[in-house]
Amino acid sequence: MKEIGSILSGETLAPPDARGRFGEYGGRFVPETLIPALDELTRAWTAARADAAYKVELAVLLETYAGRPTPLFRAERLARELGLKGRVYLKREDLLHTGAHKLNNTLGQVLLARRMGKRRVIAETGAGQHGVATATVCALLGLECIVYMGELDVARQAPNVSRMQLLGAEVRPVTAGSRTLKDAMNEAIRDWVTNVRTTYYCIGSAAGPHPYPVMVRELQKVIGEEIARQAQDAEGRLPDAVVACVGGGSNAIGALHRFVREPSQDDEGQLGESHSISAGLDYPGVGPEHAWLKESGRASYTTCTDAAALEAFSALARAEGIIPALESAHALSAALAEAGRARLILVNLSGRGDKDLGTILEALK
Ligand SMILES: *Cc1c(COP(=O)(O)O)cnc(C)c1O
Repeated sequence: MKEIGSILSGETLAPPDARGRFGEYGGRFVPETLIPALDELTRAWTAARADAAYKVELAVLLETYAGRPTPLFRAERLARELGLKGRVYLKREDLLHTGAHKLNNTLGQVLLARRMGKRRVIAETGAGQHGVATATVCALLGLECIVYMGELDVARQAPNVSRMQLLGAEVRPVTAGSRTLKDAMNEAIRDWVTNVRTTYYCIGSAAGPHPYPVMVRELQKVIGEEIARQAQDAEGRLPDAVVACVGGGSNAIGALHRFVREPSQDDEGQLGESHSISAGLDYPGVGPEHAWLKESGRASYTTCTDAAALEAFSALARAEGIIPALESAHALSAALAEAGRARLILVNLSGRGDKDLGTILEALK
């Protein structure tokens, strides 16, 4: 309990301002009819994050249901086999319930939905991971769950569709446009406009209209706070660099937010990919806080090829017995490149790779 007691606490040392703007970025670009709903959500979130009952319920579920704190593991064999000078640590979000960091966010948001008296939760999903994480918490709290998913993704991600259905969610295939995540988002927004009184819209990344980017950051920042404590325990200091992959930006902002205020830490790598072998990184946009961090020079963003990600994936599987998500393999690849320079490097292993086995076996042929 103590370890996660600080969730949602602490002053906000970074933007956004009251309108949700991170410098030039962020704000609200949605149909006029949704503004009252976003205002209602902002008020409810502000009240919830100041309410001890909400914070305790979330902290208890994060510990007893999701499995926080997740371990910090030193990948010693991997570093030795690759001849790296630096020490590499993995933050094991892959060990969180449902296999990725996404549950940190859906637990917080679906608890908020129930607190707001909304009995119906909608979400959109691409690879299916956010849909599974939302359906999981809706099952836990007894709320109705409807997940919009592009028809193409429904076909490509069949195991996650089955998971959502087993959890009691309704999966609605979207046949418009390119039949992928972007179209599923449009359908979810249409649903929200129509049913806004009864319905909570659970967004899966640190993106979308204010207050979602800041709310998702606050729910994911527990990752970085644990990293800081665990690095202190293991090494007596903070890491030289923290590396994460960027889809919409939630695991990265969660891992990094704690360190944005550290003056001594000038080297935080991050890794972005807009089109990727990994479905979870094939996201139509990146959250506004990342745009702001990039502009301010506080974080750096690089890309990684499919081949480099696959190489890092194989190296980790063989050297440490850990099969990472393809998304996380992108971050690992950048971290390994960085570990030639940095002494103490930390990579956020955002999820486990079971869902990617088909793609990987195909690609390794
Ligand atoms: C969804 C997902 C991502 C990308 O989403 P972010 O919001 O950028 O974190 C990365 N890794 C895994 C394992 C995921 O499931």
